[in-house]
Amino acid sequence: MAWDFATEPEFEEKLVWMREFVHEEIFPIETLKLSYDQVIKVIKPLQDQVRAKGLWAAHLPGELGGVGFGQVKLGLMHEVLGQTPYGPVVFGNNAPDSGNAELLATGMEMTGRHDIRERWLDPLLNGTMRSGFSMTEPGTAGSDPRLLASTAVRDGEEWVLNGRKWYTTNGSVADILIVMAVTNPEVHPYQGSSMFVVPVGTPGVSILRDVGSMDDPEVTYGRFGNHAEILYEDVRVPADHLIGPEGSGFLLAQARLGPGRIHHCMRWLGQSQRAFDMMCERALSRYTHGSLLADKQTVQNWIADSRAEMHAARLMTLHAAWKMDQVGASASRDEIAMIKYYGATVLHNVIDRSLQTHGSLGYSADMPLEAMYRAARAARIYDGPDEVHRQTVARHALKNYTASEVPSDHIPTRAAAAREKFAGMLEFLEADSA
Ligand SMILES: Cc1cc2nc3c(=O)[nH]c(=O)nc-3n(C[C@H](O)[C@H](O)[C@H](O)COP(=O)(O)OP(=O)(O)OC[C@H]3O[C@@H](n4cnc5c(N)ncnc54)[C@H](O)[C@@H]3O)c2cc1C
Repeated sequence: MAWDFATEPEFEEKLVWMREFVHEEIFPIETLKLSYDQVIKVIKPLQDQVRAKGLWAAHLPGELGGVGFGQVKLGLMHEVLGQTPYGPVVFGNNAPDSGNAELLATGMEMTGRHDIRERWLDPLLNGTMRSGFSMTEPGTAGSDPRLLASTAVRDGEEWVLNGRKWYTTNGSVADILIVMAVTNPEVHPYQGSSMFVVPVGTPGVSILRDVGSMDDPEVTYGRFGNHAEILYEDVRVPADHLIGPEGSGFLLAQARLGPGRIHHCMRWLGQSQRAFDMMCERALSRYTHGSLLADKQTVQNWIADSRAEMHAARLMTLHAAWKMDQVGASASRDEIAMIKYYGATVLHNVIDRSLQTHGSLGYSADMPLEAMYRAARAARIYDGPDEVHRQTVARHALKNYTASEVPSDHIPTRAAAAREKFAGMLEFLEADSA
């Protein structure tokens, strides 16, 4: 019977190397206040080491320049990389570039158009091109992409795009934007939307601003990781900038978001573990009211609850990854939805408890916890708000049940049925005991 929680030894060796590398070589970079260009220069030799180890862009199959790990291995890898914001970029699988590369690869598979690889996929993988993913609009609910208002209309050998997007992460530093727009309003939205590659310099593309947010309320325009508001006004792109067939926008979005959510959840676990480590160290170091924090039952409860919740989230996420490897993203929808809202809540709670354990130090920028806390808050919103994923899971669960005026477990009703079923036996028992 196959029911194995162990990591195969060859891959465990790789994880050991990654843990050490991330801890020793990447963690220190966090503390340097570097511009985007400086970061790129500092991490270049580290990226070369990752390439030499054969771990670069592991999310893509071998034939596309990746490593071809399945989701379980990728998940375990992301748990290590997610401990630090620079981890994914050093390993060539940072959002949104990694998801966009997957989307381009899926589009290529759907149409057999291999020019996509040379034009956009390879440069993204090599890190010589940056991308943004432009789906969410300020004027319509991102939680329900069926309401998408941006349009793309075919005009001869071109598509003409119009719309306003926001929260396009890295939009202000990107070379290309992948834009989702309605191409056929006559059919169901799931069949009527498409994705396009829009080079940033195309006339009609206006990057209006980087949106100030909990990430950075006083945002400086053009910083890596910012979220841009972008106006697309009569933007003309050649017909071959359509990715996949016309009408495949939702399919492509799912191809991008399914694995992406597993990677997010595992990165959140890496972050949670880091916050947990800080909490335990501080609990053993801070003395107040006659004992260490580690001796207070409240703090012990925080530690115990955090461990249990992280363990549960980890098992759920690895199980979702395993299921995806076995039966694909679509059949694993519930598992992926569950880890999205459960994982985001665990991340938030563990960081919150760790911050509280540190008191004013935790609230200060002398510890990474305040920044981690702000980043964790966003996890409950992006990739679909938690409420939408809960709704999906609940709706699917409810399909297994039917309404019943008398509850199926109503004891008097069941007792009457049991008396009828065992009438003969009950008669015998009564006679026996008389
Ligand atoms: C840090 C960050 C990065 C992002 N990066 C990108 C990016 O790169 N590209 C991109 O296109 N988008 C990006 N987004 C946008 C993100 O995908 C959207 O914010 C998300 O899909 C929600 O859409 P919305 O903000 O329009 O919220 P709305 O759709 O307006 O929803 C608002 C709230 O309504 C509630 N709600 C919604 N539906 C339901 C329901 N069915 N039941 C109960 N309550 C419900 C939820 O609490 C939700 O938070 C990013 C967002 C953040 C915060």
